[in-house]
Amino acid sequence: MNTIDNVLIKGKKVLIRVDFNVPLDEELNIIDDTRITAALPTIKKVINNGGIAIIISHLGRPKQGYEKKFSLKNVVGRLSELTNTVVSFCCDCIGEEAVASVEKMKLGEILVLENLRFYHEEVAGDIHFAKQLASLADIYINDAFGTAHRAHASTAIIAQFFPRKKYLGYLLIKELRFLEKALKKPKRPFTAIIGGAKITGKIDVIRSLFEKVDNLIIGGGMSYTFIKAMGGRVGKSLIEQEKVELALQLIDEAQKKGVNLFLPIDSINANVFNNNAIVKTSNIFKIDDNFMGLDIGSKSIEKFCKIIQQSKTIIWNGPMGVFEMSNFEKGTKKIGESICLATANNSFSLVGGGDSVSALKKYNLQNKVSYISTGGGAMLEYIEGKRLPGIVAILD
Ligand code: AMP
Repeated sequence: MNTIDNVLIKGKKVLIRVDFNVPLDEELNIIDDTRITAALPTIKKVINNGGIAIIISHLGRPKQGYEKKFSLKNVVGRLSELTNTVVSFCCDCIGEEAVASVEKMKLGEILVLENLRFYHEEVAGDIHFAKQLASLADIYINDAFGTAHRAHASTAIIAQFFPRKKYLGYLLIKELRFLEKALKKPKRPFTAIIGGAKITGKIDVIRSLFEKVDNLIIGGGMSYTFIKAMGGRVGKSLIEQEKVELALQLIDEAQKKGVNLFLPIDSINANVFNNNAIVKTSNIFKIDDNFMGLDIGSKSIEKFCKIIQQSKTIIWNGPMGVFEMSNFEKGTKKIGESICLATANNSFSLVGGGDSVSALKKYNLQNKVSYISTGGGAMLEYIEGKRLPGIVAILD
């Protein structure tokens, strides 16, 4: 692997693509700095070895140009605290100001450039934009696992301007190591738990999991489409009508591949999508017409937890219900706790995806799983067996 372990960094300008897409509150304070701390080993390696660290990242989804709430200036203070170093900031990421800011830097210092996505060329993968970014540095390191599945200018296109001077950062290597641990020769039984709102976007990963796992647990909003496909009455629950046929095919495929597919048995239902709704529990096949399923019930929790306790490798992506509302959080919380208990009993657990990671943090379970991936979409695409453009661009 192209690591930075033996690279001569002293005196070099090093462009580091990180994922500093951190959540901010209304006053623009960082709510969760996990993504910053995760990138520290690479940044410290560069500054401690006498290089200049030029940090580039996106933050949020700005629509058109500058927006204060998406400015990377919001992360400078925290990065400075965490590295114990003065961190400079440039209000552009390309052009004269960026060039001048880089020129002012001394060896061992850190410069953060403004949000790449203030230029639409970033997401468009524009080669001229990538070239301008590349002109700022001698070496390029990609340490942004969260966007490794995107062929953006700063994650993939840029690499061609650094022949033999492009590397994977320590976080990216760590992510790959843990994913490989789960996917190559996993200890069995191997169980995947997939939840979240919709089947769309997770179909390919479900299919590829059929090739790998012994058990596949499906919960959350997407499970109601499966139940409907099996002839259940699901009331006003979230349904993807156009995916009903596909759900039946997936059930059939699971059977053919010898994978145990587990769906919820019971459902916690609400008359409106609100924490103060009237709540009723029912068999998941018999939800009243005016109610919608917003969480898995206690029988499903018991069944799922039993499987999790018997598993030696566990992957989790997506909540079991609308855990953001206290009346519909129990399924997600109990599944999270069960994964932690299995981990304490020597199982290997890997959790990814913004919502499952937020859930772990909400219930203070984040230190009790084997590994939390910093990339939900990237993790799913890697599991699917896709080649991630951000990694391919470095290794090819
Ligand atoms: P995803 O981004 O697909 O992983 O979906 C995460 C979202 O799914 C969370 O915000 C949950 O509130 C939501 N969700 C989970 N279960 C349900 C459900 N039964 N009905 C509606 N939304 C759900």
